[in-house]
Amino acid sequence: MGVTKGRLGMKPRDTEAARLARLVKARAKSLGFDLVGVAPAEPLADHQRVAQERVRRGYLEGMPWFNHERVARAADPQRLLPGARSVIVVGLSYLPPESGGQTGKQAATLAGKVARYARWTDYHVAMKAKLRELAAAIQEFAGRQVKVRVFVDDGALLERAFAERAGLGWFGKNTNILTQAHGSWVFLGALITDLDLAPDAPLKKTCGECTRCMPACPTGAIVAPYAVDARRCISYLTIEHRGPVPRELRPLMGDWVFGCDLCQEVCPVNRDATPASEASPLKRTGHDVLGLTSLLSMTQEEFAERFRDSPINRAKLVGLQRNACVALGNLHDPRAVPALCRALAHAEPLVRGHAAWALGRISGPEAQRLLEEALEAERDAWVREEVGEALKDLHTP
Ligand code: SF4
Ligand code: SF4
Repeated sequence: MGVTKGRLGMKPRDTEAARLARLVKARAKSLGFDLVGVAPAEPLADHQRVAQERVRRGYLEGMPWFNHERVARAADPQRLLPGARSVIVVGLSYLPPESGGQTGKQAATLAGKVARYARWTDYHVAMKAKLRELAAAIQEFAGRQVKVRVFVDDGALLERAFAERAGLGWFGKNTNILTQAHGSWVFLGALITDLDLAPDAPLKKTCGECTRCMPACPTGAIVAPYAVDARRCISYLTIEHRGPVPRELRPLMGDWVFGCDLCQEVCPVNRDATPASEASPLKRTGHDVLGLTSLLSMTQEEFAERFRDSPINRAKLVGLQRNACVALGNLHDPRAVPALCRALAHAEPLVRGHAAWALGRISGPEAQRLLEEALEAERDAWVREEVGEALKDLHTP
């Protein structure tokens, strides 16, 4: 009798959870999100173990926000919102419509490539605003004061793991979440709530035998399936990393000046990905590629103005100028020599050192003369070392 009563007691609540989930999903779609799913607010022990292992191996070095304590919290919604019942995960496509699912076009010479996600206004701002609208709608649907907390890629929640649990997609061997409709070109955000919502089932899909992304990574950053060593990843090196780029990685970085899409471009799941819709809350910035020589002469004021609403802001001006030198060195184009010559007198040693490296790669009598003059004038020990190495590169046949 007790059991029967319990079952009868569960039914109306389950129906209510399903009804609320339907309302929430419909509202999320009308707010412009391409994907939405619900996960139960339970700790993800497996993902926590995997993330802890990455921290232990140093793959996330240089990202102090990923530490053992933070990862433990990020895998457990209860620690982020006491009394949590559901995690709503949303996805927003950032595939530019003209990309056709694969590589973008390089518009100009001496231009550096920008990862697709950074060709839009800052997704943190737009997605948080839309998630707050969703939070307000949830209060209305529930008819009571509901606890909510919003997350957009700030390291506080393992969004990818919850996206998988909520049925949005599956983990690719390049560690991206692969969705059926939009491939891996999606921003993820989440909202934890103490409202009961009917959860979705995870997708029963995997990469199968495919390993295409692994050899496609030029720096060997995908060290094993499902494991990226951030210290070798061009995305990390061009965006988050603050010091010199390790010399052995520079020649492998090609002409990427901000981010890298290579392991996504080769992914067969991305071949027919549906691009971002007209209704996207994100706006294009026009920063599809960046002129490398003009970056080298950019002032702080110009940088602040130009990248005010862009994720590119995160690299900071000096980081972007360092990246521009690496890309110019890899383009091997003598037209870059005058700009690199001026960069040898830059106020920041970081830029001077990478400019020297680029001149060593471009080579030629003019580059040699400039490097020899720089060696005479330079007082910074690290830059002198870079100039010395660049001169050696020049003399290496
Ligand atoms: Fe390698 Fe680029 Fe993918 Fe990083 S983003 S893992 S560098 S292919
Ligand atoms: Fe998975 Fe293949 Fe895509 Fe890599 S390229 S993420 S292995 S499907």
